[in-house]
Amino acid sequence: MQKQHISYYNDYFGIFGGKYVAETLRPPLEELEKEWKNAMKDRSFINELNSTLSDYAGRPTPLLYAENSSKYLGGAQIYIKLEGLANTGAHKINNAIGQALLAKRMGKRRIIAETGAGQHGVATAAACAKLGLECRVYMGEVDIRRQRPNVFWMELYGTEVVPVSSGSATLKDAINEALRDWSKNYSTTHYLIGSALGPSPYPDMVREFQSVIGRELINQIKDLNIDVEALIACVGGGSNAIGFFYPWIMQPDSNHQKKDNSNKYPRLIGVEAGGKSLKPGDHASRMVGNGKPGIVHGYKSLFLLDENGQVGKTHSISAGLDYPGIGPQLAYLGKIGRIEFTISKDEEALNAVKFFARHEGIIFALESAHAGAEAIKLAPKLPRDKAIIVNMSGRGDKDIFILAHHLDRKKWKSFLKEEVENL
Ligand SMILES: *Cc1c(COP(=O)(O)O)cnc(C)c1O
Repeated sequence: MQKQHISYYNDYFGIFGGKYVAETLRPPLEELEKEWKNAMKDRSFINELNSTLSDYAGRPTPLLYAENSSKYLGGAQIYIKLEGLANTGAHKINNAIGQALLAKRMGKRRIIAETGAGQHGVATAAACAKLGLECRVYMGEVDIRRQRPNVFWMELYGTEVVPVSSGSATLKDAINEALRDWSKNYSTTHYLIGSALGPSPYPDMVREFQSVIGRELINQIKDLNIDVEALIACVGGGSNAIGFFYPWIMQPDSNHQKKDNSNKYPRLIGVEAGGKSLKPGDHASRMVGNGKPGIVHGYKSLFLLDENGQVGKTHSISAGLDYPGIGPQLAYLGKIGRIEFTISKDEEALNAVKFFARHEGIIFALESAHAGAEAIKLAPKLPRDKAIIVNMSGRGDKDIFILAHHLDRKKWKSFLKEEVENL
């Protein structure tokens, strides 16, 4: 057995990670780390987490054999883990429930979160409604305008959505506002971060809550007798990918070399947003594009920065992948070669949504469709006795405005006009 080269110490993954925060935020981060570690050893906490995940979130999510697509593409057999069938429509609920239960255990009745596209805000709002916690979500004014449906859902769950008008009035400004709130109110308040990033212990904690995806998968394939060549997941901040991959990295027999020494089984493939092109501002790829080491929002990782070293502009058709930074553990695993990174472009993601809708009767979220697009490219290059498994991190209902705009513009426009008139 090859020695695990997962060298983490203290708060770091290689050179990435850490806890780069103002003095005022050290006590709540230290308290959180201690309480989280205790909770994970507490049988009653784990039982409550597991029963909430099954009864409320609808776990385990199914593993679908995409038989029609596999036959059509004529190569490796494609399997799809349907995280989109979890309550609220994406993997984000796994982490929201985990952290909300932890907050409750810590005696904190108030939850704050930031959200960009609104998906994390919706999951957090739902988890708080379920667990009887007060919830406030900070959201940039620009994002509120762009993501009205998610604001509507959050408010329906009883969450207060607070518009942030400072700076560019987008996600990074909402994060600053949430950090400010937390530093004043941490004795009563938990800050529920939505991806596997931020200052330590968030990257570890979010990964653990999302690892339920990979653990379930290992169980689900036990009796299938398949030879898994690759796992594929999309990467925004990186929570669905690390949750999908991590239990596999930790499997004792999962890191063996291929015969040509080129890589390790199974291949783990992270797919970033290739956007329109790899020119600065046209994409959101930190690992294939030109991500640079930086320290932003409390952690060290690779970021898309402009020529002045400021956080740069990004673009993706999928709001959830449109983010300048990547979780520190993924950056590290990418640098040491255990995870391969690639990109799918906007156009390829749209085509993948269409492809799987027609062949399998499932609608990928645009984020997840980046992983689906890679499966469409990879499967035909592999023999039929190999399998590849795609994580469908979310379902695409939420994307109807973007999908209809691109795929059915004229009819959609006249529908919207009529709707407005009816109002
Ligand atoms: C938020 C989101 C993502 C990106 O976040 P990660 O932390 O990278 O997983 C991917 N897919 C869906 C459906 C999302 O809502």
